[in-house]
Amino acid sequence: MVNQQVLVLGAGQLARMMSLAGAPLNIDIAAFDVDSEKIIHPLTQHVIGHGLNNAIAQANVITAEFEHIPHSILEVCERSGKLQPSTQAIKAGGDRRIEKQLLDDANVANAKYTIITNRSEFDAAIAYVGVPMVLKTALGGYDGKGQWRLKQLEQVESIWQEMEQSLLNTPHQAIVAEEFVPFGREVSLIGARRANGDIVVYPLAENIHVDGVLSLSTAINEPELQEQAKKMFIAIADKLNYVGVLAIEFFDVEGLLLVNEIAPRVHNSGHWTQQGAEVCQFENHLRAVCNLPLGDTRLIRPTAMVNILGLDTLPEAIFDIPNCHTHWYGKEKRSGRKMGHINICADSSEQLNDTLKKLASILPVADFPALHKH
Ligand code: AMP
Repeated sequence: MVNQQVLVLGAGQLARMMSLAGAPLNIDIAAFDVDSEKIIHPLTQHVIGHGLNNAIAQANVITAEFEHIPHSILEVCERSGKLQPSTQAIKAGGDRRIEKQLLDDANVANAKYTIITNRSEFDAAIAYVGVPMVLKTALGGYDGKGQWRLKQLEQVESIWQEMEQSLLNTPHQAIVAEEFVPFGREVSLIGARRANGDIVVYPLAENIHVDGVLSLSTAINEPELQEQAKKMFIAIADKLNYVGVLAIEFFDVEGLLLVNEIAPRVHNSGHWTQQGAEVCQFENHLRAVCNLPLGDTRLIRPTAMVNILGLDTLPEAIFDIPNCHTHWYGKEKRSGRKMGHINICADSSEQLNDTLKKLASILPVADFPALHKH
């Protein structure tokens, strides 16, 4: 296969793992660091290019590892005709207003909502959506940030004051007011779509968040739920004429799925595919954006993933536990920061649970709460 150059907008761990998956395929990754505006190598972090325009000219394909990309940059990339997925898809991931409209247009179930930009619309939202209510900034929110829970009407004034600040601080900001969904658990579906319309999806993952941040993901085998999720995936991906890996997060309400949000990119809840599937999400993303046939997404053995948050070392005893694979991101340590993850595989679900217990016995409770609850 001829060498392909892929430019990734964003230079974090997702670009890094695309680079690791691309090398054996003869696909080279350069990353555009949106903050410093430098072109860097996603593994070494060395500067390897001069200016976005040069990097665009050299790339066969441009893709993104996150959705909060300045629109001016998206425009330049879109104009080159090389951006996959499209600006429209990336914007849907970065603006909850566009996302909610997309879910409605694709006819997929999602929480009842309305948009707030001023105080009277907040009052109207309380009447329409009801209490309890979840309020989320349309722009800039991630990992549970930029959110409020309105549980009682006494909170209205104090929440409004905070929301008003958010509205004033960010141009074009709005708040999405959403009904509170009494879900039993959260699951996500990762899949890939190619320009010719071919779609593959991985098995659903069950996700446990702690303080709004993903801690533990486990691939599950539940055919009925899988079918529901796949139908919704196809509806959304086809609506966007999507190319690349797309992640969809769902609320599971007694066996009925509601879409919570989408991410137009490879996703943390799909990292387990590095050990649990023949072709991981990073390779399938590269295959899709380079217009190559998509790879096998089946679960090859029971697999889970646990995030390493805010730590830069782990006990050496981890190497004694069979089928534990660490993936470090090479980032500087910061409290709560996603520093790496561990994929855990087993021959059976029972064995997977035993291995997770062993892992919990050597890792600190405070840093791996979901693992200890498991
Ligand atoms: P999000 O950033 O939209 O993924 O929200 C962060 C977390 O807040 C989710 O993972 C859920 O646990 C919770 N959450 C978000 N929206 C709702 C909702 N409408 N009802 C109940 N919980 C929610």
